[in-house]
Amino acid sequence: MTDGKFDVLIVGAGVAGAAVARRLSRYRLDVAVLEKEVDVSFGVSKANSGIVHAGFHDVPETLKGKLCQTGNRMFSQLHEELDFPFERHGELMVAFDEDELRTLQTYHRRGLQNHVPFMEMLGPDRVLELEPNLNPDIVGALHAPTAGVVCPYEYCFALIGNAVKNGVKLFTSQKVTWIGRTDDGFRVETEAGLKFKTRFVVNAAGLHADEIAKLVGLTDFKIIPRKGEEYLLDRRVGSLVRKVLFPVPTPSSKGMLVIPTVDGPVMVGPTAENIDRRDDFSTTREGLKQVFAHAQRMVPAIRSSDAITSFVGLRPVATGDDFIIGPTKVPGFINVAGIQSPGLTASPAIAELVKDILLKEGLRLEENPAYDPRARDKFVKIRGLVEVRDFAALGQVVAADPDYGKLVCRCENVTEAEIRAAVRAGHHTLDGVKFATRAGTGRCQGGFCGSRVMRIIHEETGIPIEQISKKGPGSEITPIPLLKGGRR
Ligand SMILES: Cc1cc2nc3c(=O)[nH]c(=O)nc-3n(C[C@H](O)[C@H](O)[C@H](O)COP(=O)(O)OP(=O)(O)OC[C@H]3O[C@@H](n4cnc5c(N)ncnc54)[C@H](O)[C@@H]3O)c2cc1C
Repeated sequence: MTDGKFDVLIVGAGVAGAAVARRLSRYRLDVAVLEKEVDVSFGVSKANSGIVHAGFHDVPETLKGKLCQTGNRMFSQLHEELDFPFERHGELMVAFDEDELRTLQTYHRRGLQNHVPFMEMLGPDRVLELEPNLNPDIVGALHAPTAGVVCPYEYCFALIGNAVKNGVKLFTSQKVTWIGRTDDGFRVETEAGLKFKTRFVVNAAGLHADEIAKLVGLTDFKIIPRKGEEYLLDRRVGSLVRKVLFPVPTPSSKGMLVIPTVDGPVMVGPTAENIDRRDDFSTTREGLKQVFAHAQRMVPAIRSSDAITSFVGLRPVATGDDFIIGPTKVPGFINVAGIQSPGLTASPAIAELVKDILLKEGLRLEENPAYDPRARDKFVKIRGLVEVRDFAALGQVVAADPDYGKLVCRCENVTEAEIRAAVRAGHHTLDGVKFATRAGTGRCQGGFCGSRVMRIIHEETGIPIEQISKKGPGSEITPIPLLKGGRR
């Protein structure tokens, strides 16, 4: 008994797996994605800085160096086709003394080797003109205008949504626990009992890629989680900066940054600390102190009291500190592992590389004439209309669907219609709806809208209220069953 026979089975629906799935959906292939979480982008891809780096950080001999700038370039077309939130604000790496200025020159040369366009070294006056809130003690900066900011989960949803519209099968809540070899490929089984056959396996399992590789006997790399704490500031603080601001990096990280997110609020972080556990998502007093000390050195007006929430992301760092992408000694088993930063940026280039590897390994790629690069479920977001005070357009939207007139999330201006659309698109947890609509990301962090979102999820899906969770089983919001009439 199998639940499906595929040409390519991708383990993991983060940005790497999703980008590969979409790339392969251009061909007449049977492709499936297996994801252990209840929704896509719930791994490393949901908790990062959201920067589309220009590509001057890593040396050109590494895959990180090679794929970052290529990925960055590919974002313009992806954005045009899939319409996820993305803007090219540029990035500035700032120096505070002569030593740091010399280091900036090294990064400038590295950027040129990586073919990063339009970079320039700027003196302090020009930098302060561009960013008036920067510390006036800076002595110069490296400017890379092609860097951008993206909403990482909306990007991931868009990739997978388009892949699914083009025929890819997505299986969520399916943790891969067993892979066996057959004459012409693999048998793959999940904890929930589904069984698949496939010619190729693409291992894009993020923090668990070494465990998936081990299932076919590959033990040549390990994943070491590198923890990063990030802090989001209140929207009311305003846009203190326009560009992503970097200090001069340390050997283990790009340093702690000040990031104008694509949705408006400023974010600061991340820390970088190698840890043992893959489930340690705790923020710390020490992390907070470090992040704000670094951020305030660059932008003195930043205050830790303006933080409205914090989160932790774990970078899946592989032995050797580079991406591990390629065929293995197990024919048909392709690793896409160790996708630490700049994996978000590199993801479209990773997908291109994986397509080439699969072709070389014998996969036939015949164009799918029905492929539509734009197809995906989309819905109007009224926040943009409210911000530009386009009440005429807003009136038309509400006239067409009165649920657009019912505000659910007051902090971020998200309406009932948007939440219903997100639930209908398959987001059945509070985090899924939050990532798809922004409901619950504002100052009150869901205190006001959380119960309303739960009610809408319940109405749309029939899931009992007590089974509605933050991010899947084990994170139910109201674990005690309600009596009729809502009483406990
Ligand atoms: C703090 C932080 C900041 C960062 N900032 C940036 C940035 O600004 N710019 C940038 O370019 N990059 C950044 N990165 C890196 C970027 O987030 C990652 O490179 C990228 O998200 C990795 O994507 P992925 O698809 O490989 O992994 P994931 O998103 O983790 O996807 C892997 C998926 O596999 C699933 N999975 C695991 N095991 C199994 C199994 N047994 N069966 C089925 N499914 C399984 C997981 O649930 C997960 O959804 C940052 C990372 C961190 C942690």
